[in-house]
Amino acid sequence: MTAESVIQTAYIIAALLFILALAGLSRHESARAGNLAGIVGMTIAGTATFGYALLNSERSPGLTAVLLLAPLLVGSAIGLWLALKVEMTGMPQLIAMLHSFVGLAAVAVGFASYLDTEHNSLAHLIEVAVGVLIGAYTFTGSVVAFGKLSGRMKSKPLMLPNRNLLNLVMLLAAVAATVWFAVAPSVWPLLVVTVLGLALGWHMVASIGGGDMPVVVSMLNSYSGWAAAAAGFMLGNDLLIVTGALVGSSGAILSYIMCKAMNRSFVSVILGGFGEGATGEGVARDYGEHQETSVDEVASMLTSAKSVVITPGYGMAVAQAQYPVADLTRRLRDRGVNVRFGIHPVAGRLPGHMNVLLAEAKVPYDIVLEMDEVNPDLSETDVVLVIGANDTVNPAALEEPDSPIAGMPVIEVWHAGTVVVFKRSMNPGYAGVQNPLFFRDNTVMLFGDAKQRVQEIIAAL
Ligand code: NDP
Repeated sequence: MTAESVIQTAYIIAALLFILALAGLSRHESARAGNLAGIVGMTIAGTATFGYALLNSERSPGLTAVLLLAPLLVGSAIGLWLALKVEMTGMPQLIAMLHSFVGLAAVAVGFASYLDTEHNSLAHLIEVAVGVLIGAYTFTGSVVAFGKLSGRMKSKPLMLPNRNLLNLVMLLAAVAATVWFAVAPSVWPLLVVTVLGLALGWHMVASIGGGDMPVVVSMLNSYSGWAAAAAGFMLGNDLLIVTGALVGSSGAILSYIMCKAMNRSFVSVILGGFGEGATGEGVARDYGEHQETSVDEVASMLTSAKSVVITPGYGMAVAQAQYPVADLTRRLRDRGVNVRFGIHPVAGRLPGHMNVLLAEAKVPYDIVLEMDEVNPDLSETDVVLVIGANDTVNPAALEEPDSPIAGMPVIEVWHAGTVVVFKRSMNPGYAGVQNPLFFRDNTVMLFGDAKQRVQEIIAAL
């Protein structure tokens, strides 16, 4: 067996492990095994690529090893530091930032691979231009997503006049620059492609309003996969092509599922300029007065309840209330109360956010239900505890066609006997709209930090 064939075999094994990782990650029960498969696959892929570079380098093996290991160590150290430091609530912006690096890497690979190849074939030139375009788009799009998610940029959509036309003109110009690059290769048309990609990414994501950001994060995940696949074509690296395509297609499928969950059009997300109407201001309405409750009242409500549904949201993540919530769940179940969780697909700030927190706190998977599973049962439920959720339980989405979140399916908690909303104030949620649920006759508000309030309820029980 030659060294080359060992490397190719390692690549095939790594690709299979990546597929196993994706399959594993699609279910709670197998997610850890899936993650492990991904880590082993990545280790094999990294080692094989290192070996490949050592074998094929024109430089001395020692120098090649240093050139490869130095950036690897620096990058790994920064990555490890960020991963240890980041709060769960800061994950979405970290992910957006990481996507931007993939985009930037694809641009760098594109330029290097063009400048490094003596006789660029037509196919290679097109690969380079397309890779650079997707990479540049992913880079600025992800930087804007990072800015919006971290609150450094306003989450309101940027509404330039004729923005769809502007996007179309930029896209056509990018195609023209690609043709120019293919016909008369030089750095100039490639720079034009880069600038257009950067502008398109910036403009398209800036045009998307706050409430629709979850789909954007997952779309950018998909784009970063295609950027990596494009880099794989440029470098002639099969593993990078396979891995990029896996990330690209799984990100696209996730985006499609999320679009369906939010009742948004997939096509308009792909084309960008998304969120118009969906992010309008809505009409300010007077919903009347809200009612407040106390810890003792909630404890006695729970004591006499037979069936309880908990719908967590971003506020549970902020308060880190998942541990006391899991404790409360155990205690209620020990008393024979039927406790279930209702999870909205975009609750929190990243896909699967709530599931991760609940799994971390060891809530059994079989009582964690999806929105469609829990909605039909809510009219039979005595008490719903809304813990730090807001937009995802807002009836205006179904009842007010002019609402910024109109059309988004929500967890219809108001059908239950009593709804207790845990939050600190009457402030709106991420989409910035008031929630008429808080003013309903069967809703009571329990103000304060969610973690503290749940701990007090446990003490009162
Ligand atoms: P929301 O952002 O709508 O509401 C969170 C609520 O938590 C707020 O009303 C806030 O009220 C409350 N809260 C915050 N901190 C605390 C605390 N310490 N204790 C108690 N309450 C607290 O969250 P949802 O999960 O319902 O909805 C998610 C929103 O985020 C949707 O609009 C979704 O589109 C968007 N989004 C989702 C992403 C995803 O992928 N899942 C990504 C990006 C955005 P108060 O300040 O009064 O306490």
